[in-house]
Amino acid sequence: MKGTPSNATATSIHDPLTGLYSRIYMADAVQRLCDLHDRNGSDAVIAMLLDIDHFKQINDTFGHSQGDEVLRQVAQLILGMVREGDIAIRLGGEEFILFMTSKTAAEGQALAERIRRAIDGLVVVANKAPLNVKVSLGTAVRYRGETLLNLIERADRALYQAKRGGRNRVVASELSKPSQ
Ligand code: GH3
Ligand code: MG
Ligand code: MG
Repeated sequence: MKGTPSNATATSIHDPLTGLYSRIYMADAVQRLCDLHDRNGSDAVIAMLLDIDHFKQINDTFGHSQGDEVLRQVAQLILGMVREGDIAIRLGGEEFILFMTSKTAAEGQALAERIRRAIDGLVVVANKAPLNVKVSLGTAVRYRGETLLNLIERADRALYQAKRGGRNRVVASELSKPSQ
């Protein structure tokens, strides 16, 4: 699964710039993951929304093509850190979403933090000058029966908190179950 195209004909479901799955692919593939989770909820399903910090500034300072290079390198780094079966999607612009399953919710949180740290350490050489990249992440652990839309909205609110809190950080959605 992951996100790399397996053949050239599959490009419509792949984002041409990064090779990750495109948004079109999300509904079907992730719904299958959610259905499986509803039937057999032993593994946690986690959504991770990731947005590059101050990306507009990267474009403005280094140029759009260097911005594209940053997007490619961030995507490759994410792909290198996720497992087979995880679904990495470029939602659009400099925003990505990763759906993963893990034995525990804590494992998913730990991965989000590892991804953040790895990108923090990424140096893209742009016009012979080093360019540092940072990202903010919002994560949400799915509760059984939760709609995909609700799960993404929770991750989005957590991402917003990460941005507000100063960026270059992971915020987890606290709500793991609907209020009774
Ligand atoms: P924040 O830290 O709040 O996320 O700020 P930001 O600058 O990352 O966010 P903003 O939404 O202001 O800017 C996103 C920029 O991403 C603006 C847009 O021109 C640029 N962008 C969108 N798609 C692409 C692309 O495919 N390639 C490049 N190089 N830039 C893109
Ligand atoms: Mg951004
Ligand atoms: Mg954005």
